[in-house]
Amino acid sequence: MNNAKLLIDNEGVNAANNRTFERKNPVTGETATIAAAASPADACKAADAAAAAFPEWSKMGPGARRKILLKAADIMEAKGAEFGDLVLSETGSTRMWGGFNAHLAANMLREAGAMTTQIQGNLIPSDTPGLMAMGIRQPVGVVLGIAPWNAPVILGTRAIAMPLACGNTVVLKASELCPALHRLIGECLVEAGAPAGVVNVVTNAPEDAPEIVETLIAHPAVRRINFTGSTRVGRIIAKLAAEHLKPVLLELGGKAPFLVLDDADIDEAVNGAAFGAYMNQGQICMSTERLIVDNAVADDFVAKLAAKAKTLTAGDPAKAEHILGGVVNIEAINRIEELVEDAVSKGAKLVAGSGKAHDGVLMDATLLDHVTPAMRIYAEESFGPICVVIRAGNEDEAVRIANDSEYGLSSAVFSTNIPRAMEVAKRIESGICHINGPTVQDEAQMPFGGVKSSGYGRFGSQASIDEFTEMRWITLQSGKRHYPF
Ligand code: NAD
Repeated sequence: MNNAKLLIDNEGVNAANNRTFERKNPVTGETATIAAAASPADACKAADAAAAAFPEWSKMGPGARRKILLKAADIMEAKGAEFGDLVLSETGSTRMWGGFNAHLAANMLREAGAMTTQIQGNLIPSDTPGLMAMGIRQPVGVVLGIAPWNAPVILGTRAIAMPLACGNTVVLKASELCPALHRLIGECLVEAGAPAGVVNVVTNAPEDAPEIVETLIAHPAVRRINFTGSTRVGRIIAKLAAEHLKPVLLELGGKAPFLVLDDADIDEAVNGAAFGAYMNQGQICMSTERLIVDNAVADDFVAKLAAKAKTLTAGDPAKAEHILGGVVNIEAINRIEELVEDAVSKGAKLVAGSGKAHDGVLMDATLLDHVTPAMRIYAEESFGPICVVIRAGNEDEAVRIANDSEYGLSSAVFSTNIPRAMEVAKRIESGICHINGPTVQDEAQMPFGGVKSSGYGRFGSQASIDEFTEMRWITLQSGKRHYPF
């Protein structure tokens, strides 16, 4: 069993009154972790520690910050097995997913390290004689990162890596579903030499989340917020941030469309669809949720994908013989089963999987054909090992269906005609579109983010420097200035 204390000022500390909460392994029901349940006063201590560490960290040269980020990346990779065990025990997912997470998250730290020398300003031509005008980027202060459980190492690391590279100090509010894992991210940075207070991790009991989040957003030292999670909670965070006039980056839900045009390479599309739909039991914000397939190729595509999906069975990830592990909790399973029942009752056809879980939270890859707008699953994010086929009469109809969603995070288009696919990609309302590749794809240096109800702002790439720095206008007058009076 894991024990997760709060990480404040590089110390493991108990929450006030030694309060704790429990996270159970969703597959076995055993206690996975006992974690500190922070009070609002504990949360403030974390933000205070980050505020106290800010002057020194923000003045540190880029090389020194880079050294710590690069070392933390190596430590994270070396702890790959530990992260894998925590992914398995706290979220029920597979070790394969845990290992991939630690690898990509380590790359995010490396990329952030490289970006420390890329925080650039500019010289702006001025109409005032003798005036040199500069735009310079400065660290903002304390950055609050709030991360979910589903890609836990990647998303917890993403929430703090670029903020740190830009010279800010951070408070990571851990997910209640993987408190020990999120805390381990903080430990990697502490072990790498981050000075006390630069990285703090707060864990909280699920029922305290609204109060803890509100306290941290309101804390005067917190100058920026980034939130990865559901659109429902994202709206709450956006309102709180607006009340305090603090900028927020929101990475929210998705309902990724995957278009198969009439000239697609069907075998490639099947492989891309299966990976995008079922990796990590479909619990990825970029997961393929809607396969929009041209009628001309739909029968062939569905038959081949159904055959592949039938081989993707779920089992206890500790036994490591299955591609799919557990879904995060029984509430998620109940919701997915309801979505399937609703769709089948309105005429959808189950072509792979039974639409029911087995042994608690285990559910085999499931595929529904002939889904229509009358069914809940047409619009609602399923966030599970289920994907749907919506048939389209032609390219224009496929694009219309793709855009008939409140979400707009990732998408994909399969076609052997690249100029045609490029035009279709430009017409899809999403932050990300992959041509002849799966909707699930992330690399540390890419501009990652969504449009519409999938949020706003970008992690990764040069774009995230804008998110986590303040642009200042500084001028320098030489010679005598002319004044009108
Ligand atoms: P969630 O929104 O339920 O929880 C996220 C966080 O919100 C948790 O830390 C929780 O403590 C906090 N929270 C919960 N209720 C709150 C409240 N009332 N006030 C303030 N804070 C509150 O999300 P989840 O279930 O953990 O994650 C799954 C969702 O995240 C899916 O919708 C998925 O698409 C999305 N997601 C998006 C991305 C992306 O990059 N766009 C990546 C991964 C996951």
